[in-house]
Amino acid sequence: MTASESIRITVLGSGTSVGVPMIGCRCAVCRSDDPRDKRLRPSVHVKFGGRGVLIDTTPDFRQQALRAQIERVDAILFTHSHADHVMGLDDVRPFNYQQGGVIPVHGSEEAIAAIRRSFHYIFDEGATESSRPRLATHAFDGAPIDLYGLEFTPVRLNHGKGTAFGFRFGRAAYLTDHSDIPEESMELLAGLDVLFLDALRHKPHPTHSTVERSLQSVEKLAPGRAFFTHICHDLGHACTEERLPSHVRLAYDGLEIEVAG
Ligand SMILES: [Zn+2]
Ligand SMILES: [Zn+2]
Ligand SMILES: [Zn+2]
Repeated sequence: MTASESIRITVLGSGTSVGVPMIGCRCAVCRSDDPRDKRLRPSVHVKFGGRGVLIDTTPDFRQQALRAQIERVDAILFTHSHADHVMGLDDVRPFNYQQGGVIPVHGSEEAIAAIRRSFHYIFDEGATESSRPRLATHAFDGAPIDLYGLEFTPVRLNHGKGTAFGFRFGRAAYLTDHSDIPEESMELLAGLDVLFLDALRHKPHPTHSTVERSLQSVEKLAPGRAFFTHICHDLGHACTEERLPSHVRLAYDGLEIEVAG
């Protein structure tokens, strides 16, 4: 792609691991009529130069792909291997049928190993009578990944005691699950137009950032705009946004953002 081409980011899901509404919950946010309070599991689709890159395959992926009318999945990037980020992987099969070929899948060594265990049948060498996704796994080490002319740089994040990765591409970055952004990763996040970041709720959580902590990250990194994601049912969309600075918004399912390439 050329620098003048734009990148379109579609939020497929902005919710935490159980989604919003949460099964069985009768709280005000779970019963809200505001469509922005209906949050599927967290993922984005990145479209540029006629290509589509998917970040994570949530348990809601089929529904998300239909709703967003996703036309292509030319590569998949995994942030980490937690269930809310990987469990929809089997549902990429229609993209194999329609596009032909094999879809490259990138993740950390740890994430790729976990995905190969969880979906062992996809990677079994033997013949099968059923259809299974056609994927090629690649472990990344932190170096930028060139996908169809756009570089995606893995950004290491602390996710409680574990590690997750965000990705920077062009002047945008998507940092889901994290409790902290390590100092060396902050350097990769200078000069952003758009920054997506984890903001689970107000109350502290061992593995996730909060609204307050993510506001501090926004202040340090000074992106043009920031969008919070991985949101739980503690945060109603309208009443939370009222108290945020105007360049910081809550992401919502279906939100589309355009960024310069
Ligand atoms: Zn998550
Ligand atoms: Zn609730
Ligand atoms: Zn996680």
